[in-house]
Amino acid sequence: MKKLFFALCATLMIVSCQDFNEVSQTQKNKPKISITIPDALINYQTAARQTGTVDIKTMLNSTLFAGSNIQVKDVHTFKTIDAATTVETVDQQFQSTLTSRWVPGDINRNWNGDGDLDDIDWVSFYPFAVANELYDAEPIYRSMYAKWQNDGYCNTVTVDEMTYDFAMGNPSLILDFGLPSTGNPIADISVVGFLPASIFEAVLGAENILGVAFSFVFVDDNGDPIKSTRGKEDKAYTEVWFNDGFTWADGAGSGVIDLKSVILHEFGHTLNLGHFGILQAFTDTETGATDYVYQPVNTMNALYIGESRDFLGPNDKGNYCEAWGGWPWN
Ligand SMILES: [Zn+2]
Repeated sequence: MKKLFFALCATLMIVSCQDFNEVSQTQKNKPKISITIPDALINYQTAARQTGTVDIKTMLNSTLFAGSNIQVKDVHTFKTIDAATTVETVDQQFQSTLTSRWVPGDINRNWNGDGDLDDIDWVSFYPFAVANELYDAEPIYRSMYAKWQNDGYCNTVTVDEMTYDFAMGNPSLILDFGLPSTGNPIADISVVGFLPASIFEAVLGAENILGVAFSFVFVDDNGDPIKSTRGKEDKAYTEVWFNDGFTWADGAGSGVIDLKSVILHEFGHTLNLGHFGILQAFTDTETGATDYVYQPVNTMNALYIGESRDFLGPNDKGNYCEAWGGWPWN
């Protein structure tokens, strides 16, 4: 079993390197990059899968982040609809905002050293900001963060872009890109990019995930979340991945996934929003065909049902105000 697993890992790394090399032909002057999943995660998965399912949060916190001053609080995976996933959203369909908050002026998260802690900084790891080797995702990242910042009712916080430079090192706290790392984040939000489906399978145990946002909070010496604002946990860092195994497109359609809708949704998680909306299924009694409808329609609906969500819905805007209306808090 162990040998088989190592063989799988080796295959995974080769696939990853090939993916990168194809992209790199258009982008020169950068170090050679590979994606490696830390042994600690692989070993944990191997052991845990023998006894049952793997809880991703527990896996990360008991391996890579054991004893760290930050811990994973939420792992939000965004999936397309199917009969198996519909049920699991029922208990999380009305979480307006997450239990963690970015804290203004928090010197603990001066990750980029700019000292400007009343804004939120995001960075894109540009070698992987390409979907299907076809779509440059960075302009979309920019416009989707601008949408959250400007299109709602509360324009209180600045969401700033930092330009990635290889001197910043590893853009992920979970995956090893073969770049140096201080062990700290390189920004409040790291948009790692479009990664091979095999990475989603190896780390999250499933390939049918469009994107994932890992949200981290600061913890004290006992491992308990630090709460300095309104009883909310102090957010430390968020990391976002997208799954390059899907067929992406500029717009919703049959057999393709809309880039803007998924990016806007995942960025909502990085800005403290949870899932919102009730999923209803209507089955045609004659044809047996099922039609899915969300009420109300928001980009933070928990599942991607094939419709465009490249805009802020009424609850997206309202919930954003719940999270950011008082920014910066005193
Ligand atoms: Zn989500």
